[in-house]
Amino acid sequence: VKPRIAQRQLDTGSGIGVPAVELAGSSDGPTAAMLAGVHGDEDEGIVAVRRLVHLLAQMDLRGRVVAIPVANPPAFVARSRTSPLDGLNLARVFPGEATGSPTERIARAIADEVIHGADLLIDLHSAGAGFAMPLFCGFHDVGTPSSATARELAIGFGAPLIWAHPLISPGRSLSVAASEGIPALYVEGSGGAQVRGPELDAYTSGVLNVLRHMGNLDEPATDPPAQRIIRGGVGDVDASLTSPADGTLVTWIDAGAPVEEGTLIASFVDAEGELVGEIRSPGHGIVMFLRRDARVRRGDPVVLIAPPPEEI
Ligand SMILES: [Zn+2]
Repeated sequence: VKPRIAQRQLDTGSGIGVPAVELAGSSDGPTAAMLAGVHGDEDEGIVAVRRLVHLLAQMDLRGRVVAIPVANPPAFVARSRTSPLDGLNLARVFPGEATGSPTERIARAIADEVIHGADLLIDLHSAGAGFAMPLFCGFHDVGTPSSATARELAIGFGAPLIWAHPLISPGRSLSVAASEGIPALYVEGSGGAQVRGPELDAYTSGVLNVLRHMGNLDEPATDPPAQRIIRGGVGDVDASLTSPADGTLVTWIDAGAPVEEGTLIASFVDAEGELVGEIRSPGHGIVMFLRRDARVRRGDPVVLIAPPPEEI
């Protein structure tokens, strides 16, 4: 039996509609909430959620799926990480404010109408237009029952790399889920204002695998590939190593690459071509976030290095 499908707009109280699609299965089961487009320049998740809605519409679903393909419509239209209306990053203002600025109101509506009462949250991101990341599934590993479930689900997603964070950063959709005891995952991919087919497939099959683990879908999950897990590190791109100077960024390594102490990651040249700075890895680890855009100003985020991944 195919699920019933209902489309609606979240009530942000500000004239900004946030489209939601609800798929209700014919039998009882958990409610899975799925977000994409929290950042307006991350098209991978947006396409994946739209694709998942079409796929799930043909499947025998248990329980409910609530899908938000474009969580921050003004940022999506502007193709930017932050909203052009108030300059805010939706992933820093959760749980939001019902009488606040446009982005704060969107956060509140998503927290109240989508995350609240769900049994699972999956928030699909990517590196965005100006940065690169390896494909991975992340979760908060904080010793709670919901984080233990999230760990199982993050492994079940089936990405080759998993990131377990020991702290919950404030302001995220995942922090709302954590405060309500809801298992939550996020996904990152390579960005660059591209949607790569193999990554789109990984996002799509990963979410279906998680829904199979949750019991929303009857079929068994696919066997994951060899997987590695990163334990530790905040995963907050605002904590990146930054450019030491204005100039042009030259990168010497790719996102996902292993680094040792002293590995050259980036150098910086000025308008005369003189070397004006470099970034070397402070230790053993893996490059999880790397700037693509060559034009830099002093203080711009360039690279985030995580502890080295371990075999699972
Ligand atoms: Zn994002």
